[in-house]
Amino acid sequence: MKIQAIQGFKDILPGESVCWQHIERIARDVFHRFGFSEIRLPMMEETELFARSIGQATDIVEKEMYTFADKGITLRPEATASLLRAFIEHSLHLLQPVQKLYTIGPMFRHERPQKGRLRQFHQLDAEIIGAEEPEVDAELIAMADMIVAELGIRTSLEINSLGCPVCRPAFRQQLVAYLRRYTNELCPDCRRRTGSNPLRVLDCKNPNCRKLVADSPSILDFLCPDCGSHFEAVGRSLERLEVDFTVNRFMVRGLDYYTRTTFEFIAADLGAQSAVGAGGRYDGLIEQLGGPPLSGIGFALGMERLVLLMQQRITARFAPPVRLDVFVAALGREAAGHSQVLVHHLRRQGLKAAMDHGGRSLKAQLKQAGRFDARYALIIGDNELERKSAVLRNMTDQQQTPFPLNLDAAEESRRLALLIQPTD
Ligand code: ATP
Ligand code: MG
Repeated sequence: MKIQAIQGFKDILPGESVCWQHIERIARDVFHRFGFSEIRLPMMEETELFARSIGQATDIVEKEMYTFADKGITLRPEATASLLRAFIEHSLHLLQPVQKLYTIGPMFRHERPQKGRLRQFHQLDAEIIGAEEPEVDAELIAMADMIVAELGIRTSLEINSLGCPVCRPAFRQQLVAYLRRYTNELCPDCRRRTGSNPLRVLDCKNPNCRKLVADSPSILDFLCPDCGSHFEAVGRSLERLEVDFTVNRFMVRGLDYYTRTTFEFIAADLGAQSAVGAGGRYDGLIEQLGGPPLSGIGFALGMERLVLLMQQRITARFAPPVRLDVFVAALGREAAGHSQVLVHHLRRQGLKAAMDHGGRSLKAQLKQAGRFDARYALIIGDNELERKSAVLRNMTDQQQTPFPLNLDAAEESRRLALLIQPTD
C-alpha cells in the first residue's frame, strides 16, 4: 500500500522551501527593525483556551478545530490565543510594559482544502501587548505592510472598527432587527448566524446575502466617542506613515475577541482566498483569559498565500534550491581522498562545496556540477595530484585556469576561498 500525505497537509519540497526561507528572512528582519522579539510556542493547548478566546460561536471553534476529545487538547488554529496564554503564564508584562512579540509556525484548521487553503498552514504572527494608542495600531499595520512590500507583493489594505463592549451591543441589536426582516432570503448559515454571531453575516460570501446587507446599519455610525476618535486617529496615523487604506464597514473577523481596529490585506491575484493577512485589536481579551487588564493588537499573515503570490511573480529566482560555489570533480582514488578533505575545509571557509563519491567520469561529474548550478568546478585527477596542479573551471564562461596544489587541504581551501569569494 502506498502511503501518501493526508488531505490538506502539504510537503514543502526543496525547490519551494527556498521561497519560504526568503519570506521568513524578510519577515524576521522587519520584525527586528520594529523591535519585536521572537516567542516560540507549543502547537497544542487546552481546548478551553481557544473556546474562551476565539469564541464558542465561531466557525473555527464550532467546526474547524482538531481536538483530541479524550484529552481535552487541541492543535492550535491560530497563534494569538497561545501567545497570550504564554504571556500571562510567564508574567511577561513585568519585564517590559509594552511587549512586542512575533512567532512563526504551523496552524491547523479542518477546512475544505483548495488553492490557498490548507488544513495545516503557516502564519507569521505579530502582537503588541500593553499599548492602546491608535498610533500603535498604525505602526503594527505599517509593519505588515512593509513585510508584504519588501516581498514584492501588491496588496490593498482595508480597515474597520468593530467598536467595544460599550457601543457594539446597540449596533448588534439594530443589525439583528434588520436581518430578521430578511430571514427567509438569507443563506442557511446566515440564518443561523443571525442568532449566534450576527456580525459574521456582514462578510458572508454568498452574493444574495451581500446584496441584503448592503443597506444594513453601519457599525461606524454606532461607535462611541472613544472608539470613534480612536478609529479616526488610526486613519490619520496611517496617512502620516504613507500607508494607503480604504475603510470597509462590512469587514468583520471570524474571531470573537476583536475590538475597535480590524484590518485585512487583500491581494487581487489570489482568487477566492484573497486575504493574505488580517488582524485587529483585542482589548479585554487578556483580562478575560485571567491576565492583567492590558490591551493588545496583532496580525497574522498566511505564508502559503505569500508563497503563491511570490511564485506568480518570480519563479526563476528561487531555483535551484542551493547554488554551489564549487563542485570538486575527483578522478581516481588518491584524488578522491584528497578532495574529500579539501571539500570539508572549503565548507569551513564558508563556501558551498560538494563532490561525488561514486567514481564517475569527468563528464558525468561536470553534469552534476551543472545540476547544482555550481559557479566553479575544481577538477582533480590522480595525474593533477602528482603534478600538483588542478584545473579550476569557471562554469559561467568555461574559462579554465590552473590551481596549484600543495597537498595541504586547509591551505588550499583558504587560497580557493580568496579566489572565488563565497556567496551568501
Ligand atoms: P480566510 O478569509 O481565508 O478564511 P481567516 O479570516 O480565517 O481567513 P485568519 O484567521 O485571520 O484568517 O488568519 C490570517 C491569515 O491566515 C489569512 O489571511 C490567510 O492568509 C491565512 N489562513 C487562514 N486560514 C488558512 C488556511 N486554512 N489555509 C491557508 N491559509 C490560511
Ligand atoms: Mg477562515
